[in-house]
Amino acid sequence: MGLIEKFLHNLSRKRRAAPSFLAPLGGWAGRSAALGVLRTPRWGVHPDDHKRPAADAPLRTLPLPARLYVPLRQHVGQPARPVVLVGQEVLKGQLIAEPQGRISAPVHAPTSGRIISIGEITAPHPSGLPFEAITLESDGHDRAFEADVPADPFALAPAEVTALIAAAGVVGLGGATFPSSVKLALGKRSEIDTLIVNGGECEPYLSCDDRIMRDRAADAIDGVRLMLHCTGAREALVGIENNKPEAIAAMRRAAARFPEIKVRPVPARYPMGSDRQLIETLTGKEVPSDCRAADVGVIVNNVSTAAAVHRAVRFGEPLIRRIVTVNGGAVWQPGNILAPVGTLAADLLDFAGLKCEPARLVMGGPMMGAVLPHAKVPIVKGTAGILAFNEEEIAIPEAGPCIRCGTCVQACPIGLLPLEMAANVRAGDLQAAASLGLSDCISCGCCAYICPSHIPLVQFFSHAKGELWAQERDKLRMEATRKLAAERVVRLEREAKEKAEAAARRKAERAAVKRAEAAEAPVRGMESFAFNETQP
Ligand code: SF4
Ligand code: SF4
Repeated sequence: MGLIEKFLHNLSRKRRAAPSFLAPLGGWAGRSAALGVLRTPRWGVHPDDHKRPAADAPLRTLPLPARLYVPLRQHVGQPARPVVLVGQEVLKGQLIAEPQGRISAPVHAPTSGRIISIGEITAPHPSGLPFEAITLESDGHDRAFEADVPADPFALAPAEVTALIAAAGVVGLGGATFPSSVKLALGKRSEIDTLIVNGGECEPYLSCDDRIMRDRAADAIDGVRLMLHCTGAREALVGIENNKPEAIAAMRRAAARFPEIKVRPVPARYPMGSDRQLIETLTGKEVPSDCRAADVGVIVNNVSTAAAVHRAVRFGEPLIRRIVTVNGGAVWQPGNILAPVGTLAADLLDFAGLKCEPARLVMGGPMMGAVLPHAKVPIVKGTAGILAFNEEEIAIPEAGPCIRCGTCVQACPIGLLPLEMAANVRAGDLQAAASLGLSDCISCGCCAYICPSHIPLVQFFSHAKGELWAQERDKLRMEATRKLAAERVVRLEREAKEKAEAAARRKAERAAVKRAEAAEAPVRGMESFAFNETQP
């Protein structure tokens, strides 16, 4: 190993394992957190955030679209199953698809109207593949479904409050879309000490969480209190990047009466909004790659999720609308828009106005979002932003050769060796890339962003992870086929043996019958003889 390689490996190793004497405090970050000083971490990048003027524009509400396209899979886990028929009239907030399995979430009508179809539409995904959705034609009245709400949710058992959150279809709004009730129920199984509320919003261009904290801080803090009740956690730490002073001030005012909730500014550093990085920054605890946050006594929920929990429990309002940032160089009036789930990206862009034909459309942030095939794609519960970029914003300089500078290693928040992994991927040696921790890569894009040679590192990793998953899936499929074939051989052998045994049994029975007949034959002869003797 050459000197440069040695240096890079040591740098990566240091990042992945803190010195043992700092372990009780959780490593370097732990020491800082324990001393109450939140230092700028050494990992990550600080891209130009492009959040203003969109973040400062007052929140606007989208006029009700004529049609809404509500996907059945808007969460991690099994898609929901429709419980309505085409032609059926529904009310706003009425259940239209029920969850299937343990990890799933219900889907509700975003407005009142008539179901006009249940079928495939374009998925909110770069593949553009079809996706099952319920299409709802609005009647324009927005008539709401009446829901029962508890007078005092804190008088209910934690499991009852969690059930209300599950019934409202609340999922993680930070992008993961994991059903919130499943996460909150972890408090029963694991010893959850700390609830971390993620107000980081480190992705450039996005500001929907910022708007929630500025405009609806009391709702978000009430949601945090309800989540503390559900999990049994002792305290909540609300982490907000220090580039959002208005949000920090609003959340501090709203949390002032609740000493168990502490609002903590954290350094503005991408990807601070990633759960593991925020946990490490706020508590000093490192979550090993093969563990979940709950294993170190922490669960993380997004600040917009907290506001959705508040509406679900206090008003019985399912998750049927959300704030979406509409931003990018092609947008005339960038800002945050409250829109029903199922609204087409095209409707949001029409409302915000376009200066020019977008050169690229992205759902989510520019670092981790999905490029859209076109604007006729609906927003889902997890859609934080619709970005319409102009040509200038998407121009990427041509990639050059790697100059072994090591900047990508320094930037990687996981402590991986992007340059080595990319070299292995390029050489087609995916197993070697996997042995360097490819599966731990969170596709944050820091390495690619910082690379002076503009090497599209994250694309290499996304491609390689896809290949490895496909290989793993093929391996599992082959194993399953092999197992089935082996079971078939065993079954055929067993059946043949049973057949042979049955044939042998029948043969033995026939032989026994013959023997018995043969033994009886002389007697019968004697009987006939005797009978004949008695004849007159
Ligand atoms: S940042 Fe780019 S040029 Fe530098 S070591 Fe990494 S891959 Fe090579
Ligand atoms: S994309 Fe992967 S390898 Fe690159 S910095 Fe992020 S986690 Fe590290």
